Amino acid sequence: MAQDFAAETLAPHAARWDEEKHFPVAEMRAAAALGMGGIYIQEDVGGSGLSRLDAALIFEALSTGCPTVAAYISIHNMCAWMIDRYGSEEQRQRFLPKLCTMEHLASYCLTEPGAGSDAAALKTKAVLDGDYYVLDGQKQFISGAGVSDVYVVMVRTGEPGPSGISTIVVEKDTPGLSFGANEKKMGWNAQPTRAVIFENCRVPVANRLGPEGIGFKIAMAGLDGGRLNIGACSIGGAQGALDKALAYAKERKAFGAAIADFQALQFKLADMATELEAARTFLWRAASALDAKAPDATRLCAMAKRIATDTGFEVANDALQIHGGYGYLADYGIEKIVRDLRVHQILEGTNEVMRMIVARGLVGRSKGN
Ligand SMILES: Cc1cc2nc3c(=O)[nH]c(=O)nc-3n(C[C@H](O)[C@H](O)[C@H](O)COP(=O)(O)OP(=O)(O)OC[C@H]3O[C@@H](n4cnc5c(N)ncnc54)[C@H](O)[C@@H]3O)c2cc1C
Repeated sequence: MAQDFAAETLAPHAARWDEEKHFPVAEMRAAAALGMGGIYIQEDVGGSGLSRLDAALIFEALSTGCPTVAAYISIHNMCAWMIDRYGSEEQRQRFLPKLCTMEHLASYCLTEPGAGSDAAALKTKAVLDGDYYVLDGQKQFISGAGVSDVYVVMVRTGEPGPSGISTIVVEKDTPGLSFGANEKKMGWNAQPTRAVIFENCRVPVANRLGPEGIGFKIAMAGLDGGRLNIGACSIGGAQGALDKALAYAKERKAFGAAIADFQALQFKLADMATELEAARTFLWRAASALDAKAPDATRLCAMAKRIATDTGFEVANDALQIHGGYGYLADYGIEKIVRDLRVHQILEGTNEVMRMIVARGLVGRSKGN
């Protein structure tokens, strides 16, 4: 179903959305009507109650149509899950039904101008004032910002470091909430990226998820699944690029033969397919570990994100090479995939940060890590 949706509703428009920087909200709501707005959200609030492994399959399929739109749906699902998992019953009932239908969209707000990889250094503060928190600070690079209705924001309510962080849901029309300009980007043009600014922004205490001080834990728990989804988006985008490269190689003639007849190119295609399959299979293993709440799930999710996003980018880039000069032209749809997949190596934790997470398990924490 997700594959058909991608082919019929996303793929035909993906290049235009990229060019026009159009965020296809109506199409995302159509995806939500098929159950993709709350994939692993509980069913009592309109979720689909599926597993992380199911989500990996869905995001791979959606990304064959457009990795950017699939990736935004992934972020939206991550935010909804954070509310489902850590929110009170009242918060679940208040926020999740409209998130599952994507009548409301959600954004994940962790990164700040001075705190990216070192997210626990975040400075946006939330000071208690009666029944409200007063938020001041700025979030950077927030996907969906300005359009989203619900902002899941990591703020400082206590001491420096991870244990002084809490998670607060800020609703769109809250006075004191504003947005920066839509960033001009290399890819991911079919979704907006803006700064989110809080100036004396009063948010009810009732919007805090869980107790004070567990916000960093909530943020990281969200990212375990988010990283699987982004990895799946890379695999889907790369599979789309590989399929295009295969078709092109069979058609394109050089030196009196189809370029697919050259063994050097056949070996390249074989390696692309093999590495993609290895990354996909490992991603499923990590997704199964997260479903099983395995103790090493975070480490496996970090490994999977690194492998899937690096492999996805390499395969897409090789697919561009197989298209020769035409791969560089927008009309062939390959350069967009390469541009879109590049950022998956950076966001939801850079691939260096993924190595840090894996290395901590091997050699323990060291200075700076
Ligand atoms: C298009 C886009 C959308 C995004 N969407 C969101 C979003 O919705 N929500 C959100 O919260 N954030 C979002 N981000 C932010 C993203 O998660 C950060 O850019 C990312 O975490 C890296 O942070 P930084 O850019 O500050 O880089 P830095 O942390 O400054 O890192 C710079 C470089 O140093 C490396 N580095 C840092 N520390 C170490 C170390 N200890 N060892 C080795 N290397 C290290 C990094 O890997 C990187 O290569 C988005 C970013 C982009 C580009």
